[in-house]
Amino acid sequence: MRAMVYRGPHKVRVEDKPVPVVEHPNDAIVKVELAAICGSDLHLYHGMMPDTRIGHTFGHEFVGRVEEVGSSVRNLQRGDRVMVPFNIYCGTCWFCARGLFSNCHNVNPNATAVGGIYGYSHTCGGYDGGQAQYVRVPFADVGPSVIPDWMDDEDALLCTDALATGYFGAQLGGIVEGDVVVVFGAGPVGLYAARSAWLMGAGRVIVIDHLEYRLEKARSFAYAETYNFTEHDDVVVLLKRLTGHLGADVAIDAVGAEADGNLLQHVTSASLKLQGGSPVALNWAIDGVRKGATVSVVGAYGPLFSAVKFGDAMNKGLTLRMNQAPVKRQWPRLFEHIRAGYLKPNDIVTHRIPLEHIAEGYHMFANKLDGCIKPVVLP
Ligand code: NAD
Ligand code: ZN
Ligand code: ZN
Repeated sequence: MRAMVYRGPHKVRVEDKPVPVVEHPNDAIVKVELAAICGSDLHLYHGMMPDTRIGHTFGHEFVGRVEEVGSSVRNLQRGDRVMVPFNIYCGTCWFCARGLFSNCHNVNPNATAVGGIYGYSHTCGGYDGGQAQYVRVPFADVGPSVIPDWMDDEDALLCTDALATGYFGAQLGGIVEGDVVVVFGAGPVGLYAARSAWLMGAGRVIVIDHLEYRLEKARSFAYAETYNFTEHDDVVVLLKRLTGHLGADVAIDAVGAEADGNLLQHVTSASLKLQGGSPVALNWAIDGVRKGATVSVVGAYGPLFSAVKFGDAMNKGLTLRMNQAPVKRQWPRLFEHIRAGYLKPNDIVTHRIPLEHIAEGYHMFANKLDGCIKPVVLP
C-alpha cells in the first residue's frame, strides 16, 4: 500500500509499505477513505515530539471501510463505514471506566500521562496512523463507530479530532451564559472551540491569532470579535481593556507549543526558545483572564515544554483544566448539533490533497500558505 512516511524533521514522503494485518483478535483493518492533517501533526513534522521514528506513518484523523476484523470483534463487520477517534484505548481500565479515554492505561507502555494515539510517535504507543491506504485499528470494538447514514464522510472525519477537541476545550472552560471567552488560535481547534463557546452561551467570544484569513473565518463561523496579536503591543492589556479591566471569564489555549520561528520573537526568555516550545498563548491566557477564571488548555505541549507561569496561575487561584480530548465522549452531543444544522464540521476544510502529494500538503499547512485551514487527504 501507499503510506505517508516520516523521514526526519520537515521531511515526509509517500512510500510503499506492507498492508497491515490483524495482529490480535481485537484488531480491525480499515481501508482509509479520508484522512486529515492536524496541527498536532505539525509538532511531529517540526521534530518536537521525542521518539518520532524514521518510517513512522502519521495520521490520527481518518474514516474508512472495515476491510477485515479479528476473531473476537463483535461490533464491526467487513464493509462498515467507520469513524475512528484519534485515541486508542482499551475501554475497561480505571481511566477508561471514568471516560478518560485519552489516558488509557493499557495501550501505551512508554508513557505515564498519555494513552495511545494513532500515528503519533512511540511516545504515544508507536501505532502507525491513517495517512495511508490501510490502517490497523486495535480494540476495534471500543473506539470506532459506524458513521450514521445521514452524516457525510468529511463531517465524520472532523469529529475524530478537531471538532471534538474544540468542543471539549469549551467544555473544560465551564462556560456559563454571558461569559466572556477568549480563544487563542484560530486554527481548526480554535475555530471549533470558538463556535462551541457560542453554542454554550458565551456572551462574547474573542479570538486571537495573527493570520487574517483565519480571523475572518472566526468572525463568520463563530460570531467572534477578533484581534491580530501582531497589531497590539500587549495582548494582555488589550484583553483587560476589552473587559472593563477584569479580564476574561474563560480562556482557551488552542495553540500549544509553537514552532514557528517568526512567532518566537514574542518570547522573551532565551531558555524557552532553546526548548523549542513557546508558551506565548498560555501565558497570555493566564494573564488575560480575571481572578477565579478558568483556563482551558487543549493546545498540545509535548514533553519538551515545561516553563509555564505556574506561580502566577497559582496566586490567581486559577482553575487549569487540560487533557488530550476523550473524543468519543463528545460524539452524542455533537451528532445532535450536526444533525440539527448548528454545526457543519467540514465548513473549515480548505484543501483536498491526494495522498501522493501529502508532502506539499504538510508544507502548505505548516507554513499557513494558500489560505489553508484544514487539509484533507485522499488515499
Ligand atoms: P493550527 O496550527 O492550524 O492552528 C494554530 C493557530 O494558532 C494558528 O492559526 C497560529 O497562527 C495560531 N497562533 C500561534 N501562536 C499564537 C499565539 N501566541 N496566540 C494566538 N494564536 C497563535 O493547529 P490546530 O489543528 O488548530 O491545533 C491547535 C493545537 O491543538 C495544536 O497544538 C494541536 O496539537 C492541539 N490539539 C490538541 C488536541 C487535544 O486532544 N488536546 C487535539 C487536536 C489538536
Ligand atoms: Zn488531530
Ligand atoms: Zn483503558
